[in-house]
Amino acid sequence: MTDLPDGIQRREFDGRTRLATRGEPVYGEPTDGEWRCWDAGRSKLGAMLESGMEVDLTGGEGVLYLGAASGTTVSHVADFAGPTYAVEFAPRPMGDLLDVAEARHNLFPLLKDARKPEAYSHVVESNLEVLVQDVATRGQASVAVDNARFLADDGQLLLAIKARSEDVTADPETVFDSVCEELTEAYEIIDRQRLEPSHDDHLGVVARKR
Ligand code: SAM
Repeated sequence: MTDLPDGIQRREFDGRTRLATRGEPVYGEPTDGEWRCWDAGRSKLGAMLESGMEVDLTGGEGVLYLGAASGTTVSHVADFAGPTYAVEFAPRPMGDLLDVAEARHNLFPLLKDARKPEAYSHVVESNLEVLVQDVATRGQASVAVDNARFLADDGQLLLAIKARSEDVTADPETVFDSVCEELTEAYEIIDRQRLEPSHDDHLGVVARKR
């Protein structure tokens, strides 16, 4: 596994070594009062880190996170990263996300559609180091390509592709190949791995902006 930044550690919870970040608990995860368990079963990015994918994180980086939902994963990201812009288009989870952001001064929730980056380009910084994407929508490749504008020249994409959001009937591998092919318009793929058993029919992708 690639090195983890100081803000992500492997610690013991319930007799098992798990990933952890330092911050206020959010979703009932085990905590020792300082460090909180990052449950890879509830987080595709957590599963990508646990499975040893070629993720390159140093801590303190600027992040755009697409598909923040109620903040399970983005809360961990904000624990170790710098400014973290969290885009979510559904009003219901946004209420929870706003609560999560209250305890995190570097987390900026945006009620926006990730397919329309021009709607938040006046708020989100450019030259960010990392784009994290976990949107359950058709057209996941074009969302990633269209949002590459916010990344620095060698910025990193950490993407979870949900096969069933593209096509419920197609073979997931065929969907993954086609999404990855489309990504090459803006990215070089560094690593790809299926996220089973924690996330069925999902592919984790690490890529660099071209
Ligand atoms: N990333 C979250 C986590 O690990 O805590 C879970 C994300 S959930 C699987 C997918 C989210 O993508 C949903 O909350 C959904 O509302 C959001 N979503 C889907 N299409 C979107 C779009 N076009 N723009 C913004 N959010 C979108």
